[in-house]
Amino acid sequence: MSEFDDLLAANAEYAARFSGSDLSGRAARGLAVVTCMDSRIDPLGLLGLAPGDAKILRNAGARVTDDVLRTLVLAVYLLGVERVLVMPHTDCGMSKVTDADVHALTQEQGVDTRSLEFHTVPDQQAALRHDLTRIRTTPFFPHPLPVGGAIYDVRTGQLHPVEL
Ligand SMILES: [Zn+2]
Repeated sequence: MSEFDDLLAANAEYAARFSGSDLSGRAARGLAVVTCMDSRIDPLGLLGLAPGDAKILRNAGARVTDDVLRTLVLAVYLLGVERVLVMPHTDCGMSKVTDADVHALTQEQGVDTRSLEFHTVPDQQAALRHDLTRIRTTPFFPHPLPVGGAIYDVRTGQLHPVEL
């Protein structure tokens, strides 16, 4: 018995139905999506994508961090990515707290997280525009690399373009 037995059981059923895949690791639709870890977001489903179509990068708040940039560079040069969509969402937990709030919360448990930057989002539109600019101005991509931003509404399923 482990904490993961449910997952192993589900995978056994999945693998039993799996017909094998001849997909490569390249993004068939030439797309990378940067989105949040929020469990309400189904990136493939909401964009009409299937496995094999796109690289999906997820973190708290859909922020373009150094590691996201690193991954996008690899995705562009090695894995067929030719366009990037940055897609935060409504009702994001990252827009409801500040870094200071999180540090205070962990401090209550005796844990010091001040060496971490959480990249919380006080202004979602401003953060998205900042992150789009970060991708557009990085010197590491060939130009032009189409970069777009849109906010996903977790209540309606609609995508609202910010810069597309
Ligand atoms: Zn979120």
